[in-house]
Amino acid sequence: MKSLTQLYDPATFRTNGHALVDRLADYLESTPTADANPRHEPNKMLEDYRAVLDNGTSPEALYDKYIRESLHLHSPKYMGHQVNPPAPLTALSDLVNGVINGSTAIFEMGATGAVMERLVIEKFATMLGLAETTGGFLTNGGTLANLTALLAARAARWPAGKDPWRDGNDDIHPCILVNEQAHYCIDRAVRIMGWGEAGIINIPSDNEFRMKTGDIDEAIVEAKSAGLTPIAIVGSACTTSTGSFDDLGAIADAAERHALWFHVDGAHGAPVRLDPNRKHLLDGLERADSLIMDFHKMLMCPGLTTGVFFRNGDDAYRTFHQKADYLLSFDTREEEWYHMGRRTFECTKNMMSLRVFSLLACHGEEVFRDYVVSVSAIAEDFAAAINARPDFELGLPPDCNIVCFRYRPTAVAHSAADLDHLNALLRAQMVAETDFYLVQTKLRDRTFLRCTFTNPLTEATHTETLLNEIALRGKAMAELRTALF
Ligand SMILES: *Cc1c(COP(=O)(O)O)cnc(C)c1O
Repeated sequence: MKSLTQLYDPATFRTNGHALVDRLADYLESTPTADANPRHEPNKMLEDYRAVLDNGTSPEALYDKYIRESLHLHSPKYMGHQVNPPAPLTALSDLVNGVINGSTAIFEMGATGAVMERLVIEKFATMLGLAETTGGFLTNGGTLANLTALLAARAARWPAGKDPWRDGNDDIHPCILVNEQAHYCIDRAVRIMGWGEAGIINIPSDNEFRMKTGDIDEAIVEAKSAGLTPIAIVGSACTTSTGSFDDLGAIADAAERHALWFHVDGAHGAPVRLDPNRKHLLDGLERADSLIMDFHKMLMCPGLTTGVFFRNGDDAYRTFHQKADYLLSFDTREEEWYHMGRRTFECTKNMMSLRVFSLLACHGEEVFRDYVVSVSAIAEDFAAAINARPDFELGLPPDCNIVCFRYRPTAVAHSAADLDHLNALLRAQMVAETDFYLVQTKLRDRTFLRCTFTNPLTEATHTETLLNEIALRGKAMAELRTALF
């Protein structure tokens, strides 16, 4: 029993905790000059951590190792995937909850979390200009949130007299319509619901990777004549690869014309609505039946923190029960909003609202707007810098903080495939040899470099250095090629 008493000993926690907070503060101070990406080889690292387990260690040594060896989102040279560096305050909120371990399935187990969760949803519904009837909850990530919203769509728009909750898909062949550029989790959700490959109808995208909304009507006619039952249209706000915003107003019109559910996957881009200069990109968002938004991509929270919003808050109660009328006839909505588990996929659910609530309550809603404005401005300046350099080209003008671009030397002739190889090599070299972390993507089968600016402390000097480092390597490779052939 001695070791368990020690494990729960407050004095030990106090000592370790103070040391850890000091270590983390030192870490945050060091990130401006840190290498964003400590490089690792998976099997070597596995053996290394296995040795830690075998030999045992102290909390200080373990945390120090973890901190040093992780990807450094707080480095201003981190410009890779969409996950944001959490505001340090939200880390303190997580520490508090790590001790309290609030869960939110039923009120008695997580009263504090449930109340804050409702207020977070209410506050963001207002900030995003959503309808007053909006209700919702927080859940574990955009992937699960999209599935949850599509389950609600299924319950709401299933053919009358049938019940998918009781009978499964029965003889219905349901489908949704979505931009071919949509996040893969939409496809996954459809297949999880048992709708198969036929259940997802990809609408082609235009030059800027937005859904060709003019194609929707014809796609619906075709689907119906193939025996399918369209349930929903999903708008991407924005797409993951290029950060392109679908025309939500046009999708809302189409959904209305065809009496379909209108869902918006705003995992990444819904917060852009807070930016006065870019909010028009989300015109029509207020007409969505459901919306999901990650707080861990553009709202400074740790992952996973995702909001699910329903324009008619009651719809959330239909997700896991077809006969919502039965539920509602007991007037449970107003009485039992605080039992979050009725609407969420999860049973025990980590209390995540304190992260958002702490930012809102201690700093005000403006910080979210300031963040979105500043990361999008970094992307805009970066795009301008690319346009000013003849050896670089943009994949498309950025709508928010995601920028796709590539190196394209003007001095040497090259094929499309050469350019692909060159840019894939450049990405590998940049990650291997410099302090920067960026990623790559395919745009219509061509390789592009991709930066997502999630760190508001990234400055023009960093992005200039990034382009210089790429140009240096690109030029050397182009010269080498000229010399060899
Ligand atoms: C990131 C992303 C998702 C997935 O969200 P997770 O929180 O990573 O599960 C879904 N859709 C879009 C458009 C995204 O950008």
